[in-house]
Amino acid sequence: MSTPDISFEFFPPQSLEASFRLWDTVQTLAPLDPRFVSVTYGAGGTTRDLTRDAVATLHKNSGLSVAAHLTCVNATRDETLIIAHDYAEAGVTDIVALRGDPPKGAGPFRAHPEGFASSVELIAALADMGKFNIRVGAYPDLHPEAKDAQNDIDWLKAKIDAGATEALTQFFFDAETFFRFRDACEKAGIDAPITPGILPIENWSGVQNFAKRCGAHVPDWLINAFEKATRDGREDLLATAVCTELCSNLIDGGVDKLHFYTLNRPELTRDVCFALGIVPQVDLQNVA
Ligand code: FAD
Repeated sequence: MSTPDISFEFFPPQSLEASFRLWDTVQTLAPLDPRFVSVTYGAGGTTRDLTRDAVATLHKNSGLSVAAHLTCVNATRDETLIIAHDYAEAGVTDIVALRGDPPKGAGPFRAHPEGFASSVELIAALADMGKFNIRVGAYPDLHPEAKDAQNDIDWLKAKIDAGATEALTQFFFDAETFFRFRDACEKAGIDAPITPGILPIENWSGVQNFAKRCGAHVPDWLINAFEKATRDGREDLLATAVCTELCSNLIDGGVDKLHFYTLNRPELTRDVCFALGIVPQVDLQNVA
């Protein structure tokens, strides 16, 4: 089995303790030589400054390629583009461009009167700047707001046509779900890479809630397996096995890139990577 290129998603820390945890996560995962790491932007734009700080700090100190998430929520076009200009000035060349979600309980997305009305508008504006490698979100299990599967794929094509070069997917639990989606994208003429988003299950009840909110299907076999593992106190073992099997099925089906949602907890992601044969890249000069 060939080893895939990997990337890791982090969220920006909101406390000193969380900052240490993020740095520990980076130190643990960086030796696995990720293609890039990304930093999320809180729902409703709530972590605008924290995201900016975390991106700048990682860009300056980690030696990794850092992608900044950016959304359209709760900001004017100018405010959003100033953030992008700041990234360009700091040498950050990668952006994950999203429409975004409003804060919890605030109802459906409503564009700011002077803001970007959709992800496509944001992507087009960023592409116009000519300074970024732009990635976007994609939804193998359908986005909850999609009219139907074709609409979802047509919209993804519009995002790629507007200037995005890669799609990172929402998490899913069956490799077949991804393969069906990849085939449909290919049929629709989408030629940009579609990279599966992988969520190692650190916290089973949290993942179930999260899946409900974002439209990811949780299969019965997984529910049954976790019920049994919880009774036996073997959730960690199951989480590693389930995630490794999903990744290995994806690789067998031709996938050569994986994007891990780490939730700033490195152990499970690291163990899965090890199981897939992705091992630390040791600098021989340092060993000698
Ligand atoms: P879009 O793709 O623009 O829209 C979502 C779906 O709605 C589309 O798939 C399509 O079916 C439908 N749709 C929307 N507009 C139209 C239209 N005009 N015409 C037709 N159909 C339309 N959220 C955050 O707040 N911060 C983050 O950092 C963040 N990071 C993410 C990273 C990844 C890899 C992914 C997959 C999601 C992330 N999200 C994040 C969540 C994301 O913001 C939500 O899923 C949001 O609801 C959709 O954003 P989007 O850019 O994917 O939307």
